[in-house]
Amino acid sequence: MDYTTQTEQLRLSGSRDENLGVHSELFSAKSDFFGQDGGVVTALLLSGLEKNIFDAAIVVHRKKDRYLAEASVAETTAAILTASGTIFLQVNVLSKLRELLDSGKKRIAVVCLPCQVQAVRKLQQNLCRSVADVEITLIGLFCFEAFVPEKLKTEVQRLTGVDIDRAEKTRIQKGIFEVEIEGKTYNCKVSDLEGAVVEGCRRCGDFAATLADISVGSAGSPRGYSTVVVRSEVGKRLLQGLNVQRVETEKTELLKLCQLKKARTVKT
Ligand SMILES: Cc1cc2nc3c(=O)[nH]c(=O)nc-3n(C[C@H](O)[C@H](O)[C@H](O)COP(=O)(O)OP(=O)(O)OC[C@H]3O[C@@H](n4cnc5c(N)ncnc54)[C@H](O)[C@@H]3O)c2cc1C
Ligand code: SF4
Repeated sequence: MDYTTQTEQLRLSGSRDENLGVHSELFSAKSDFFGQDGGVVTALLLSGLEKNIFDAAIVVHRKKDRYLAEASVAETTAAILTASGTIFLQVNVLSKLRELLDSGKKRIAVVCLPCQVQAVRKLQQNLCRSVADVEITLIGLFCFEAFVPEKLKTEVQRLTGVDIDRAEKTRIQKGIFEVEIEGKTYNCKVSDLEGAVVEGCRRCGDFAATLADISVGSAGSPRGYSTVVVRSEVGKRLLQGLNVQRVETEKTELLKLCQLKKARTVKT
C-alpha cells in the first residue's frame, strides 16, 4: 500500500474531498497568542505540550537580522512562543526530526510544509516496521510556494526598494507579498516574485497539507485569523478545550487555491 493511502486509512478520519483531502472540520480561528495570522499553530503546540501529546516540537526560528531561518527543538512554552510567525522559505525540518529520533525521543510534533508532511508520512511508514512506539504529530502549513533566500532578497529590493533582512514581518495575502519595517508596509505582487520561487515548487500540487493531522493557513480567513482543517483524532485532541474565537471559513476561496495549485502542476 502506498504511503498516501496508508496514511489516509490508518491515521486520518473524516470525509474525503478531492481538493481538501480527508477532514472532519474546517473553520477559521483566532487565538490569544501573537502569530502570523490567528496564532493558532502556536496555540496548538502549547496545547499539545500541556496535554502531554508530545514532549518536543520542531519549529522554525528566524536568524537575527537576516531573512533566514533554521529548524529548532522547542520543549518549553517560551521556545514555542518565540518561534511564532512565518518565514516564507523551505527550512530543513527533516534533518532535525532525524536527529531527535536518533537521540531516542519518541513523541514529537513537527510544524512543516505539505512536501515535508509527505516526507514524514513516508518515513513513518518505514519507522512503524522497526520502531512501533514512535508518535509523530504533524501540523501542516498551507503552502503555494517557497522562495530561495538570496533571490527573494534581490527581487524584494528591486520591486519595493527595501531590504527584506530588515523585515519585522512578511505576509502573503490575496496575491500580495507584504514586508513590514518599522511600522511601514511595503508590497509587491507575488506573481512578480516568480524568479525567486524554489524550482521544485512548480511540481508540487498539495496546497493544504492533506496528510497532516491538522492543517493551518490563512487562505479562506479574514485578516488576523487562521484557517484550520482537522484531519485526525490527534488533531481533535490538540483542539479540545482550546480557547479560540471561531468564524466561518470562505471555503470557495480555499478550494480555488487548492485547485489552482494542482492545475499548475499539471501544466509544468
Ligand atoms: C513557505 C510558506 C508558504 C506559505 N504559503 C501560504 C499560502 O500560500 N497561503 C496560506 O494560506 N498560508 C500559507 N502559509 C502559512 C501561513 O503563512 C501561516 O504559517 C499559517 O497561517 C499559520 O499561522 P498562525 O498564525 O496560526 O501560526 P503561528 O502561531 O504564527 O505559528 C507559525 C508556526 O510555523 C512555524 N514556521 C514558520 N515558518 C516556517 C517554515 N518556513 N517552515 C516550517 N515551519 C515554519 C513557526 O515556527 C511557528 O511554529 C505559508 C507558510 C510557509 C512557511
Ligand atoms: S510549494 Fe510544495 S514543494 Fe514548495 S515549499 Fe510548498 S509544499 Fe514544499
